[in-house]
Amino acid sequence: MTQDRAEALAAIAAQIKTCTKCDLYRGTTNAVPGTGNIHTEIMFIGEGPGFNEDKQGLPFVGRSGDYLNYLLNLINLNRDQVFITNVVKHRPPENRDPLPDEIIACKGYLDDQVELINPSVIVTLGRFSMARYFPTAKISQIHGQPKYDDEKYRAYYPLYHPAAVLRNPGLRRDMETDVKRLLEVIEKVKAMRAGATTAPEPKKDDDKPSGPPKQLSLF
Ligand code: SF4
Repeated sequence: MTQDRAEALAAIAAQIKTCTKCDLYRGTTNAVPGTGNIHTEIMFIGEGPGFNEDKQGLPFVGRSGDYLNYLLNLINLNRDQVFITNVVKHRPPENRDPLPDEIIACKGYLDDQVELINPSVIVTLGRFSMARYFPTAKISQIHGQPKYDDEKYRAYYPLYHPAAVLRNPGLRRDMETDVKRLLEVIEKVKAMRAGATTAPEPKKDDDKPSGPPKQLSLF
């Protein structure tokens, strides 16, 4: 299949917008497939859309989005340089936690997004995206501790959810320290790739942006 990455991701987004595989679509205004740089090396995965995200069809808007923007700015990144999505693509009612069946129903979309974007670093935001890569861990114990995948040349980096930090300002110092360490994680993945005896899995198309963002030039 010669479908390029942009087309494939757009096709996934279109499927999400008409998806009825779980009940979360009921009563929502918009699906929130995810947004950002589809050629990025850094992918952020949150939990699920909230009130503002449902209204706008975009992830991490409102106060949580403002805080995520602030965190990105701490390391000289912005939203145009990363891809941001969630484990479920429709808003759970009253912002409740997504249920296991809902996460399973939605999993294929996220799996396909990860495979197509093929990021070097996946930053999980909160418990539910953390559980994809650290199934038995507690966020309070492993936040800021990367796990490196020697086969995919990728790091998984668990962070608190920005909304949790806003609710509990006592987490703010840890959160911001963890975000600053993300640069070290990127450097480690760069070293993994440089030291690899076999080439990392190639990107799936040649549709590269003409001017890679500053931080991404680390790769
Ligand atoms: S949350 Fe995911 S699985 Fe459930 S209806 Fe929305 S897109 Fe489909």
